[in-house]
Amino acid sequence: MLRLPKTRVAKPTTVAQAVALLVEHGEVAMPIAGGTDLLPNMKHGLFEPEVLVALGGIKELQRFELQTDGTLILGAGVSLDRIAADERVQRTAPALAQAAGLVAGPQLRRMGTLGGNVMLDTRCQWYNQTHFWRQALGYCLKKDGTVCHVVAGGKKCVAAASNDTAPTLMTLQATLVFEGRSGRREVAIDDLWHTDGIHNKKLGTDEILVEVRVPPRATGHRGAYGKLRERGSIDYPMLGVAARLDVGRDGAVEGADLVLVALQARPVRVRRAAELLIGVPSSGDNFAEAVAAVAEAAYAQAHPMPNIPGDHEWRREMVPVYVARTLHAAATGTGPVHHV
Ligand SMILES: Cc1cc2nc3c(=O)[nH]c(=O)nc-3n(C[C@H](O)[C@H](O)[C@H](O)COP(=O)(O)OP(=O)(O)OC[C@H]3O[C@@H](n4cnc5c(N)ncnc54)[C@H](O)[C@@H]3O)c2cc1C
Ligand code: SF4
Repeated sequence: MLRLPKTRVAKPTTVAQAVALLVEHGEVAMPIAGGTDLLPNMKHGLFEPEVLVALGGIKELQRFELQTDGTLILGAGVSLDRIAADERVQRTAPALAQAAGLVAGPQLRRMGTLGGNVMLDTRCQWYNQTHFWRQALGYCLKKDGTVCHVVAGGKKCVAAASNDTAPTLMTLQATLVFEGRSGRREVAIDDLWHTDGIHNKKLGTDEILVEVRVPPRATGHRGAYGKLRERGSIDYPMLGVAARLDVGRDGAVEGADLVLVALQARPVRVRRAAELLIGVPSSGDNFAEAVAAVAEAAYAQAHPMPNIPGDHEWRREMVPVYVARTLHAAATGTGPVHHV
């Protein structure tokens, strides 16, 4: 049986108290929300915080509002199942609702929060293992060791960003509000990431994610999320595809975005997607041709590595398949794309 290491749990009731606890305890403290990722990781000896700062009792983190200007405010502590089931999110940010609804399984979505999902640690099949297993292998760069088992001779960790909601929030141009010792700051989610699998977020140890802000979208906004995973009922993504289409009154695509996750240390934008889709009618043969071109561009750009389970060459072949299906689902409002 895997046991949790001894740790103290502090229960602040305000964001300011939580930040003060993180400042007081420094590197030996970590925030915990639903605990659905952090606790298994602690059982595997991947994190050994002496103090857990539990965020569950902070009311402000439960904020859930659609403002009159159309901005969606989602507190970091809102559970994924609430986001997936909420009519306002389904209507204004369908890709986000779909991605939240495909994270893990029902029990984990009830405990797991949006904040914990955005802040999720990167994953690797050589890292997300028990201490005994990792010790037998001689550990790795990300924890306790000096080598990478994915890239021979590699000096940089390439563990994969595996958080389903992150790419959808990027397509939605969301911003994140953090609070730390120097006060509050708002950052575009695009600017959160490092391409380093050890720490893939630009974040101080004293900072807490307070809320996610999704700006208003035009009336013709459409979105979808596609997810490839081993078992339809529970697994992390082997590939995640978030698509956004803004369709004008004349039916043509006026704006588009496509972001992939579970390939490398950060979610990655398909660079040519907007250029290939903008100006094209959102249905019919021209749309199908544009989608095929985007799928090809995504294939050329994506180079999955053997960092997470699933044959990486097969995962690459699935990139154009899931990109095409997800774009069609966005255009027709028939997402999400996944198998059961
Ligand atoms: C079997 C299984 C399957 C899973 N499948 C998926 C999946 O398919 N897709 C997926 O995306 N995830 C998956 N997960 C991971 C997890 O359930 C979700 O990512 C969930 O959203 C994490 O949220 P949480 O509140 O439980 O985070 P926690 O476990 O509490 O925290 C996760 C990390 O975020 C930090 N953190 C949490 N809240 C904040 C905050 N407000 N500010 C700063 N840092 C914070 C913690 O310190 C920790 O480092 C799975 C987990 C399990 C056990
Ligand atoms: S990518 Fe390499 S360094 Fe990073 S967790 Fe995997 S094996 Fe370790």
